[in-house]
Amino acid sequence: MTGICQHEPMASASASASGAASGAASGAGAGAASGAGAGATGSHGGAGSLAVGTWVVDLDGVIWLAGDPIEGAGAAVGRLQRAGVRVLFATNNAEPTDAELWGRLARAGVTAGADDLVTSAHAAAAMLAPGSTAMSVGGPGVHEALRSRGVRVLSARDDAGVPDAVVVGLTHDFTYDVLRVAATAVRRGARLIGTNDDPTHPTPQGLLPGSGALVAAVATAAEVVPELAGKPYQPMAELVRARAVDVTVVVGDRPATDGVLAQRLGVPYALVRSGVVRSGDPAGSDAEFDYVDLAALVDAVVGP
Ligand SMILES: [Mg+2]
Repeated sequence: MTGICQHEPMASASASASGAASGAASGAGAGAASGAGAGATGSHGGAGSLAVGTWVVDLDGVIWLAGDPIEGAGAAVGRLQRAGVRVLFATNNAEPTDAELWGRLARAGVTAGADDLVTSAHAAAAMLAPGSTAMSVGGPGVHEALRSRGVRVLSARDDAGVPDAVVVGLTHDFTYDVLRVAATAVRRGARLIGTNDDPTHPTPQGLLPGSGALVAAVATAAEVVPELAGKPYQPMAELVRARAVDVTVVVGDRPATDGVLAQRLGVPYALVRSGVVRSGDPAGSDAEFDYVDLAALVDAVVGP
């Protein structure tokens, strides 16, 4: 019933590059922890080699934290763009509409082209054919993406009929009845698509439950393995490739999503410690570059 696309984290990145990066990254972690913001390089050369092409940049924990701009991030994006680097924002946050995300970007001092934003809601919608039906267990961003795709959206309180898919994303409107209706639709034959499986998302108050917790609830109740759309899974990788053929690096605060997406795209990963991973934490990944935040990374690439 379900075409499973839940991929294991990729192990295809070159072992030698990973090993080299691992050792260097741990050194950089110490630098970042001391506040120096020093970076590391693996087998891909110095940070200056990144000053070309398109950067895929995460939002939560990189540009903002729970919507509040991270100091220096907007200006750093501007410096990159003036140096000729395109910035493509890629977020697993499927809850806001595109307009809401653009508003947050503007408040963070960022301007970018209309094609320079991809979300896990976009990736989930792309997994469905125009004209199909989906029950949305998600926020306005999921509804919007499905409708833009030409998918007919059913409410999660709508017991009538079996949709082609149940699409689950982060929402604050998740009750036992929503879980019951969604799981029943999946048991009756609907695909279960999760926008992403991030267990948490970072806020100034700490880590709060993420979309992955809701997807897991529906998957458990329906006893299926969900298909997953966002970082680091294939639908998001395809969406990024469709928007940019010249990706240079993936920048993000979560190695399990941003770092593994970089592997899938075959490009270096730059860890920034302004979100899930903080200064002094173990990197937990083979990040080729490791900086305290986006501003420090951009300083190293194009100068302050
Ligand atoms: Mg993030």
